[in-house]
Amino acid sequence: MNSTVTSSLPLLNPLLNAGNSLVLLLRSYWSAYYSWMDNDFLATGFLFLVIHELVYFGKSAPWVVLDHIPFFRRYKIQDTKIPSNSEQLECLKDVLIAHAFVEALPIFAFQPICKIFAIDYTADTFPALKPFLLQVTAFFFMEDTWHYWFHRALHYGPLYKYIHKQHHKYAAPFGLTAEYAHPVEVAVTGLGTVGSPLLWAYCFGNVHLITVICWVVLRLFQAVDSHSGYDFPWSLRHFLPIWAGADHHDDHHKYFVGNYASSFRHWDFLLGTETPATARRHTILKSSQNVKKTK
Ligand SMILES: [Zn+2]
Ligand SMILES: [Zn+2]
Repeated sequence: MNSTVTSSLPLLNPLLNAGNSLVLLLRSYWSAYYSWMDNDFLATGFLFLVIHELVYFGKSAPWVVLDHIPFFRRYKIQDTKIPSNSEQLECLKDVLIAHAFVEALPIFAFQPICKIFAIDYTADTFPALKPFLLQVTAFFFMEDTWHYWFHRALHYGPLYKYIHKQHHKYAAPFGLTAEYAHPVEVAVTGLGTVGSPLLWAYCFGNVHLITVICWVVLRLFQAVDSHSGYDFPWSLRHFLPIWAGADHHDDHHKYFVGNYASSFRHWDFLLGTETPATARRHTILKSSQNVKKTK
């Protein structure tokens, strides 16, 4: 994010220069936006609200299109369960209502919280690239840990019956279902997403609002993708084995048990809570790798 980053590898420098120019442009827009709004509370609130809506529905829209193209059926995890138009519309309506009545208020409360936790939002203090990457990576692991434990708890009898059951309405999830949940679950999920940078700011300080926004955008990407119902050969999990991906969470919806983590696989693997299907695939993969090693 810093404008003075250079690399010892000459090939990387054009890329870094382009990145530096982009950051400078972003800083000037950021500064102009806050000056134009002339009210930091409203400026941060609207910024968060607009980004949240644009990213959530913008990221969900391509999956709706893919569901109508037979070619992509080969990549659909539960290939016989294509959501109907009425299911998609009903889910869209419920998510919009939840966004308006459950999520909008906490989003607008974020600016005062920023002040309490000393999260900076001035344009001239945009973070350098290394702390930015370190913090975003840490937020992913922190949220994943939070998500694993509260999600596992939500599968306990009455908590499941009165809260989490709503999210399990769709045994074959699709992009829009990522935030289709009981208001209590939406609040607890949001606490993990927003609470991770707040906890970091409380312990170590030096968190900028732009880092929080980028983190929220990436977290929304992850949440919608994991509910997409599609697993492509180029999906991230094939290159980064610790990454959960869509097949991990799709199995959770299909079997109603196991695979409680959001972004990564380590908690479910280490604590023996992978769904039978995920565990079976893992065993098959490991045994095929062992066969290759012994040859
Ligand atoms: Zn669940
Ligand atoms: Zn889900």
